[in-house]
Amino acid sequence: MYDVANNLHKVLGTLPDGVKLVAISKFHPNEYIEAAYQEGQRLFGESQVQELSHKVDTLPKDIEWHFIGHLQTNKVKYIAPYISMIEAVDSLKLLKEIDKQAAKHNRIINVLLELHIAEEESKYGFSPDACRELLANGEWKELKNVHISGLMMMASNVDDREQIKREMTLAADLFDELKEKYFADDSAFKERSWGMSHDYDIAVECRSTMVRVGTTIFGPRVY
Ligand SMILES: *Cc1c(COP(=O)(O)O)cnc(C)c1O
Repeated sequence: MYDVANNLHKVLGTLPDGVKLVAISKFHPNEYIEAAYQEGQRLFGESQVQELSHKVDTLPKDIEWHFIGHLQTNKVKYIAPYISMIEAVDSLKLLKEIDKQAAKHNRIINVLLELHIAEEESKYGFSPDACRELLANGEWKELKNVHISGLMMMASNVDDREQIKREMTLAADLFDELKEKYFADDSAFKERSWGMSHDYDIAVECRSTMVRVGTTIFGPRVY
């Protein structure tokens, strides 16, 4: 097995105070998650409902799970009882469904709005203007069982570090704008989730509060 413990500590060692590590364990078996758990890691991210459900059933109950993938509205009900954060909310429809399912379990589910800033293929996420419109529209304020805790994005998958920096800075600036306009009194609107294995060092420079690192900790995924 990949030296998970060693890799985990290396990543943690580079993160300043105030930046959380979401260990992205998708497509890796329980042994890998247990190895990180042994070292004290409690926050993990998964992108498939079925895979996550299996892991939740078979792994320690004090693990905090983030859902990081594209989530179909008809699958929200399966994760609503336990999910700690849904990171990639990309429509008002999904936001409403999360609210509805969270209410059934008497919970408030934390979510991030996913931005689409990268120049590439991803179909998902709000453009900065669509994100502004969603908040200006105000319907989200009626949703009492969902809490918008911040923004999430993936930068373009390129070698050009300046481009990555530009995209992450744009996201950080939008965060400030929205914070001031809609969440000035809400101290829980505070998360900026960006940075993956190849760019989390840049993300930290660009005011990320939450990096999502998989490959660097667990090795390449086998699909
Ligand atoms: C898979 C994934 C990651 C982790 O990517 P690595 O390159 O393995 O670190 C981070 N964020 C999202 C949204 C992902 O789907």
